[in-house]
Amino acid sequence: MKLNELKLEVDYFEFDEKYYHKVNPTPLKNPKFVSFNPLACDLINLDYSECETSDFVDFINGSKILEGSIPFAMAYAGHQFGYFVPQLGDGRAINLGSVNNWHLQTKGSGLTRYSRSGDGRAVLRSSIREYLMSEAMFGLGIPTTRALGIIDSDSFAHRDWEQESCAIVLRMSPSWIRVGTFEFFARSRDKETISQLADYVIKQSYPHLENQENKYEKMFYSLVDKTAELIALWQVYGFQHGVMNTDNFSLAGLTIDYGPYAFMDYFEKNSICNHSDEEGRYSYNNQPYVARWNLFALISALKLICDESKLESYMKAFLPQHEKVYLDLMNKRLGLDASKSGNSNLHLILELLGSLENAKMDYNVFFYRLTHLKSFDDLCSILDIAVFQEPLKKWFESYKKVCDEQKTTFESRFEVMKKVNPKYILKNYILQEAIEKAHEGDYTLVNDLLKIAQNPYDGHPAFERYAQPTPMKHANIKLSCSS
Ligand code: AMP
Ligand code: MG
Ligand code: MG
Repeated sequence: MKLNELKLEVDYFEFDEKYYHKVNPTPLKNPKFVSFNPLACDLINLDYSECETSDFVDFINGSKILEGSIPFAMAYAGHQFGYFVPQLGDGRAINLGSVNNWHLQTKGSGLTRYSRSGDGRAVLRSSIREYLMSEAMFGLGIPTTRALGIIDSDSFAHRDWEQESCAIVLRMSPSWIRVGTFEFFARSRDKETISQLADYVIKQSYPHLENQENKYEKMFYSLVDKTAELIALWQVYGFQHGVMNTDNFSLAGLTIDYGPYAFMDYFEKNSICNHSDEEGRYSYNNQPYVARWNLFALISALKLICDESKLESYMKAFLPQHEKVYLDLMNKRLGLDASKSGNSNLHLILELLGSLENAKMDYNVFFYRLTHLKSFDDLCSILDIAVFQEPLKKWFESYKKVCDEQKTTFESRFEVMKKVNPKYILKNYILQEAIEKAHEGDYTLVNDLLKIAQNPYDGHPAFERYAQPTPMKHANIKLSCSS
């Protein structure tokens, strides 16, 4: 389909005016094409050739408004680092409407009623990070929002005492409703208003519940299940979101709002990637507990329309469910079958995490090399990239024992592991290289990384070095929140 043939639908104006702000994007100066995502084009039936036109750039920039589109920003509230902020909202994101149930939103499109002290902009650095990471998560099978394209510009914004060029990502999601959206609607203390939002969420994300009894309770249970799985997936692959505030927490169980996130380089259980997170509220290991906290915040907002005790009681299943999904997948990453062991190989997995940390081992590279291991007599491919070898040598004794007990072979384990242990993970230092090139006007690495992100299990011969352990000087860096 041509860009001009796309017809956007807006379904948010059924809510009271105080829940959104109709506002047009403020275009950037001299917008420049950086990248488009063919897989996202497929989702909305957009011809690839359309993305190489100046119309596409103008569309992302907001100077070209498509048929049916009425741009608006959504209001929401949220708990930020545990403190309630009654009024947040899309301070720099603008919703354009939906196509094929994909809700299009541009991030960095200028001021809205919810911009507070912000400038409404997003810099190129953080835009590249969001663009690539949403597709990398998709490539790993982790639920996420998506991105259609990204533009750079000659407009500048101040961040961390520097001028950085402004960019816009066009992102898309089946839903942009957050826990914080419910927290904002719940301020009305009006059952009808909250039900209206819950019905909207059900229509968007849980349509099978539409005609069921106790549908709001069931919506919550489905979200709990999805969230348990989501956080398990994050942790299995060493992902840290970095800012799990309730306003960054999706009602559809998706990873949303990519900020100072990180894929762990060297395994570190208490790793904190967000420079502003002094107490480690959002550390790697805390993520399931914070997710649970956020779901309890949602219960507070839903209690007017739900039986609170039922919701609380369902929450008892959250951590066990998270652990089950986590262990199942971790077993697979080791080529093992969780069901064959009374304790799901829990001890083996805990021992591994301790060993990886003590060995100072690149987390995901470890699993990739384990997949390709041919013999327990030759562990060089793994031991050679450990800073300290002893902890891993010891773990391999335990691993060999379990493998023998469960009668697995290198071949049988390979078949399981090759499906879950990718060769490529977009670690922060890799993204940083693409960002530095982009600042010089060279966007080729952004486009190369997009292909790697979407196909992390394939070989990418020109980028063999990205499949290696992260150079020590770039490992586990903390990122600033500024974006
Ligand atoms: P975040 O930490 O990116 O999830 O953002 C938290 C809140 O601050 C959201 O309401 C954002 O819309 C808003 N915000 C972040 N950066 C900006 C900015 N540069 N201009 C306006 N609002 C912003
Ligand atoms: Mg946010
Ligand atoms: Mg952000």
